[in-house]
Parts: sequence; C-alpha cells; structure tokens
Amino acid sequence: MEEAVMTPRQDKQGKQDKDAEPAGGSGPRQGKDEYAVIRMYEAREQIYPREIKGRYASLRWLCVFLTQLVFYGMPWINWNGRQAVLFDLAARKFYLFGLVLWPQDFIWLAALLIICAFGLFLFTAVAGRVWCGYACPQTVYTEIFMWIERRIEGARSARMRLDRQPWSFEKLWRKSAKHLAWGALALWTGLSFVGYFSPMRELLPELAAFAFGPWELFWILFYALATYGNAGWMREQVCKYMCPYARFQSAMFDRDSLIITYDGARGEPRMPQAKAARLGAGAPAGDCIDCTLCVQVCPTGIDIREGLQYMCIGCAACVDACDSVMDKIKRPRGLIRYSTENAVEQGLPASAIRRRLLRPRILIYTAILGAVAALFAGSLWVRTPVKLDVIRDRGSMGREVEDGIIENVYRLQIINTDERGHRYRITATGIAGLAVAPADAIDIAATQTLSVPVRVRAPHGAGESGSNKIRFELRDEEDPTLRVSEKAVFIVPRP
Ligand code: SF4
Ligand code: SF4
Repeated sequence: MEEAVMTPRQDKQGKQDKDAEPAGGSGPRQGKDEYAVIRMYEAREQIYPREIKGRYASLRWLCVFLTQLVFYGMPWINWNGRQAVLFDLAARKFYLFGLVLWPQDFIWLAALLIICAFGLFLFTAVAGRVWCGYACPQTVYTEIFMWIERRIEGARSARMRLDRQPWSFEKLWRKSAKHLAWGALALWTGLSFVGYFSPMRELLPELAAFAFGPWELFWILFYALATYGNAGWMREQVCKYMCPYARFQSAMFDRDSLIITYDGARGEPRMPQAKAARLGAGAPAGDCIDCTLCVQVCPTGIDIREGLQYMCIGCAACVDACDSVMDKIKRPRGLIRYSTENAVEQGLPASAIRRRLLRPRILIYTAILGAVAALFAGSLWVRTPVKLDVIRDRGSMGREVEDGIIENVYRLQIINTDERGHRYRITATGIAGLAVAPADAIDIAATQTLSVPVRVRAPHGAGESGSNKIRFELRDEEDPTLRVSEKAVFIVPRP
C-alpha cells in the first residue's frame, strides 16, 4: 500500500519550497517530486520454506496428526445415541460425552477457558512459543497446506522456478491441482467445524443433496475460506501482523524462558568451510559455516542468527536444519537450540536451566492453574443432574383458604440435565406442617425442562405474619442421594 504524504515545507497544493530540505532533514532528496511517497507497509516477499526432517519436525507432525485426528474425528463419535461432542446452539445444550451443559452451566465453560488461558501462560513462561510452533491451527494448517504444495509443485527450488516461469500447461495444471486440493481440504475443514454445531451425520446427506440451511452454508464457506486464505496465502503474515497472542506473549517471557537461540559465541565469526580452510588452523572461525539453511527452512523468513525476533514462532525448523549441518561437518549439535537468554549469555548448563524453572512466575501460574483445575473437577464431580428454580406467583399473595389454612402458589422450574428420566418428589420445609400439592411425584424425561405449578399450604396459626423463609426440596424416588433444594418465601397474611 502506498500513501502520498506531504512534506512539512509543502503547501496544500503540493508546491515545494525549492530551498527547503527534503523531509527528514538530511535524508535523501525527493528530486522534483511534489510528493514524497512513503510505503506504509513493506511489500511481502514470497517465502519458499525448504522442507526439513528432524526431531522437532517429527514432533510437529505428531502434533498435526493428533490435533487433526481429534478435530476431524470428534464429530463422528457417538455417545448415548447422539453425537459425543455437540454444541447445540438452537436447543441451548452443549454435549461433551456424558456431560450435558445448559446455559446455567456456563460457569464451567468459563472455568475451562481460564484453565486453557493459564495453561498457555504456563507453557509460554516455561518454553516460549511452543503453542505457536506445534499446535496453533495456523501452524498446523500451514504445515498441511505446504505439504500438499510440495507434493504437487515440488521442492523449494522447483517451486521458485515454477513461479518465475511464464504460464505454460505444466504451470497451469500444477497450480490448478494445488488450489483444487487446498479448496477440497478447506471445505472439509469447514464442514467438520460446522459438524460441532449441527449433527455431522445429518450434514452429510444434506451435503449429498446440497440442501444446507443458509447458516450452515454460510459457516462452512466462511471457515473454508478462512482456512484456505490463512494457510494457503497469508501464512506467516497471520503470525506477524494479525495474531494478538504474538503481541502479548512477550509479557509472559523472561530471561529464563526457553526460546530458540543461536549461540553467537560459538558460531561467530561465521564463514564457509572453504574460507576457514584458506585462513588456516589458527583462523578465528566459528562453527557457523554460513550455509543459510536455517534461513531457508524458516516459515517466517527470518534469520535467527540476528537474535531473538518477535516473528519467530518457535517452530524449531532452524534447529533441525542446523543440527543436520553440524552432523555433516562433524561438530556438536546445538549451535541453534532451545535455550534461555541467561543460559546463552552466562554459559549455564542444562541442570541450571532446569533449576531456574522453579521461579515465582512459574509457581504462581502453576498454583492458579492447579486451583482452578481442582475446583473445576471437584464441582463437576459433585454436580447434581437436576436444577430447580422457584418463582413465586406474584399474582396471588398468601391467602387464607378453608379452615384458616394459608396457601401460597409457586411455579417450579425443574431442569433434568441427565440423559435419563427421573421421578422426583417435591417437599417443602421451614414451617411446621407445610404440605405441597400436588403430592404426587413428578416424572421428568431426559434433558427436559418442566414448569410445575405447586400450592404450598401451612396449617392455621403456623408461621409468623408476613414473610417466612421456607425451602423446597426435590428428591429422586429411586436414589435419595440425588436431591436439590432451593429457598423461597412463604407469606402469611397479617390478621
Ligand atoms: S544452518 Fe547452522 S551453520 Fe548453516 S547458516 Fe544456519 S547457523 Fe550457520
Ligand atoms: S527462526 Fe527458527 S524457530 Fe523461529 S520461526 Fe524461523 S525456523 Fe522457526
């Protein structure tokens, strides 16, 4: 993007004072141009990352495989006769295997998000951008898309050659095949995404008949387009310019966090082996042979030898590349490695790096994460699969019926969050002789909500005039330990 910007000595018509210094004082003159053209954004240079094999590349592929096995596979798993994981927004129920969450249970979803956030903080403080390098969807899909690209267009040099050459039949079919494969994968990704919100096994016949609802179609195409655009075209630009996590994750780092580092003390002065040989044995040659392989494999196109940069996503491709070079030239691995700023500067051994793990920041994150996780698990464990809400009938205050008996009317909202039906008996306590009508037990089907009007009666003379605290209790007829209670107010009219 280019934007014309007037220099300070220009008038509104853009006429320039001939004696004026160019913008920036001693900067280069703009010649006779009336406008200085400033590029607000650097033009993107196409990056052709070289494929690399190694321990970290294998680890990343393992993460790609596992995360995508979960993502694509989960909508196909059934549980209790329905989809195991389904966020049914229309029915406002979230199914997570045996757990059914209702809007009232959003506290658990909030707790889950807090756990994920603190997990991310902890991992980042310990090991830098491991999330970005191995499990972030942007990394994962870029990896898959690049894999397809390599299979169709060839290795790095072949891809560069293909892009430089004019259009030909070969270029056309290779480019078309790549985009078709990308498009098919992106569409399947969009379909799988929607499968978390709309049952997957119903989506497929709709796909065959091309009879999606408008919202399903919108989200499938939207997600597919986002995947295709981000992983196929934008790639490292998403990490560099769009990702909010890239902006604030440095606040979680410190000098003892693991990062990908180049050991300058060992590597410099860098020079090709031929030059080092020419200079002789006494020459001050470092271990870096300046082969630039670490730069060629970098998906964000940076040179890690220039120091820690925010564009580095911590993928460790350069570590694999440099290790392979060190193996070839028979030097120890680890010229580029996972280390900490303190360790590289002070030459700390691995044991000291491990010891420095237990610093206050890590302990605080771990404590918070552990506490929230324990609360989350404990509250889920004691969770009863029934909820009770009591609404007083505001239309009728407490009133006297036959024989001086006082009656209040309520509406009980009972939510059975369980996936099997229950039979509950309703009782009320708080005033001697309280009776609830109807006295029969209430049947409530699996995952159903029932609104039950009840009348509560207190004998003549029981309770104080005005409001009295009472408590409704719902107790399962078969399993008395399954019960829930809710407080309410019983009004005794003043005489
Ligand atoms: S791969 Fe290693 S040896 Fe080659 S340029 Fe990079 S740091 Fe130097
Ligand atoms: S510098 Fe190394 S770790 Fe960082 S993004 Fe590039 S290849 Fe990955």
